[in-house]
Amino acid sequence: MDYDTIAAISTPTGEGAISIVRLSGSEAVAAADRLFQGRKTLHDVDSHTIHYGKIVDPETKKTVEEVMVSVMRKPKTFTREDVVEINCHGGLTSVNRVLELVLDQNVRLAEPGEFTKRAFLNGRIDLSQAEAVMDLIRAKTDQAMNIALNQMEGKLSHLVRNLRQQLLDILAAVEVNIDYPEYDDAEVMTNKILFEKASEVRYQIDRVLSTARQGKILREGLSTVIIGRPNVGKSSLLNQLVHESKAIVTNVPGTTRDVIEEYVNVQGVPLRLVDTAGIRDTEDLVEKIGVSRSKEILKTAELVLLLINSHEELTDEDRMLFQLIGTTPAIILLNKADLPLNTSVDEVKNLAGSNPILRTSMTDDRGLEELEQAIASLFFSNRVTENNETYVSNTRHIALLKQARSAINDAIDAADQGVPVDMTQIDIKRTWDLLGEIVGDTVSDGLINELFSKFCLGK
Ligand code: GDP
Ligand code: ZN
Repeated sequence: MDYDTIAAISTPTGEGAISIVRLSGSEAVAAADRLFQGRKTLHDVDSHTIHYGKIVDPETKKTVEEVMVSVMRKPKTFTREDVVEINCHGGLTSVNRVLELVLDQNVRLAEPGEFTKRAFLNGRIDLSQAEAVMDLIRAKTDQAMNIALNQMEGKLSHLVRNLRQQLLDILAAVEVNIDYPEYDDAEVMTNKILFEKASEVRYQIDRVLSTARQGKILREGLSTVIIGRPNVGKSSLLNQLVHESKAIVTNVPGTTRDVIEEYVNVQGVPLRLVDTAGIRDTEDLVEKIGVSRSKEILKTAELVLLLINSHEELTDEDRMLFQLIGTTPAIILLNKADLPLNTSVDEVKNLAGSNPILRTSMTDDRGLEELEQAIASLFFSNRVTENNETYVSNTRHIALLKQARSAINDAIDAADQGVPVDMTQIDIKRTWDLLGEIVGDTVSDGLINELFSKFCLGK
């Protein structure tokens, strides 16, 4: 299939000194050639080589930019089309000027994610691998990046394809048995085979689903809210966390949310700090937005950090905040531990229930290490390592795996109860379909467009 030629600036603006204008499609080399002046015409150069020259405006004959141009001919490219990358070292203006000239050469501006979409449409990668490209761009920690890389290399695809093959094998085995109805126990035998083989598939689905919680946290961050009365040290804690953080990642461009978020990396756990604006303004979350809205935020949060000023006695407001936490996992910080203790620890223990309590000080860093460990151990009972486990982290994949799990479970139950085999076959086929959606074998064009539209420009 031949698509039109597309181009975009492929480096995020403001990052690094070099920006790349990337072209992909059958006209890519010809279009670049009309603008490029170097020792050779790009038409004549070998594939996968890089060339120094100038980009010249064909109308004014003026040099726009000194460039290095890479020429990569299909099929050994990311999109499986001819790809040209024009490396510009100049500022934003000259890069934009180069792109403008490129777009005058019968080349269309790429939509967000369109390069990756081409790679998918041309069979270079499957859907879960394409989604991993996006995850990689947005990864908040090394672990999140590792998961994305594994997925991009096809680990999840491999597992899914393997499971789908097993399901086809089951269907084939059933067909063979049914074709010999003269065999007395055909139905019983078939159900037995079905039960055993489907149980094996269910076991493997369960196994990968067991990584979902950690995978999702690593991918999306653990939504965390810091609460406490005014002046207990919320802003100071926030500043400490941001300061300590190994990799601070700012908001993902293109995502608009009504709450302000900030990411910090705590021993590999990305915390997504929600509504930090309120904290920064030294305004109080509860005071600012009211009790009922606070309750809502705290309910959807995955972690609450509640600060108490341990230099003072507990107030009714403190007690109210304990109530607000509800069942959300929380860590209680008896802050200002550098000052004399005036809070009743027994009462705090009572109010805290099973939530851990730590003594902290933002002025002498006391308890921060313990806090980081408490967060890590609350969510990662077994440490995340680069072992051979296949992680699933994407919400869409998790939902499909859960549906597939339920479908295969129906098949197992049916086989167990001796339901007619053709009924069971339907459940097996449904499982096969659902797993196919993960890799994109059985998805609609609409969904594909929607998924790719979430990508960043130039990817
Ligand atoms: P917030 O209103 O809850 O955000 O509190 P802030 O972080 O703005 O802190 C209020 C005041 O308490 C500031 O003067 C901080 O320097 C001080 N403070 C915060 N944490 C500690 C602590 O652990 N010990 C002491 N002695 N002072 C602290
Ligand atoms: Zn504050």
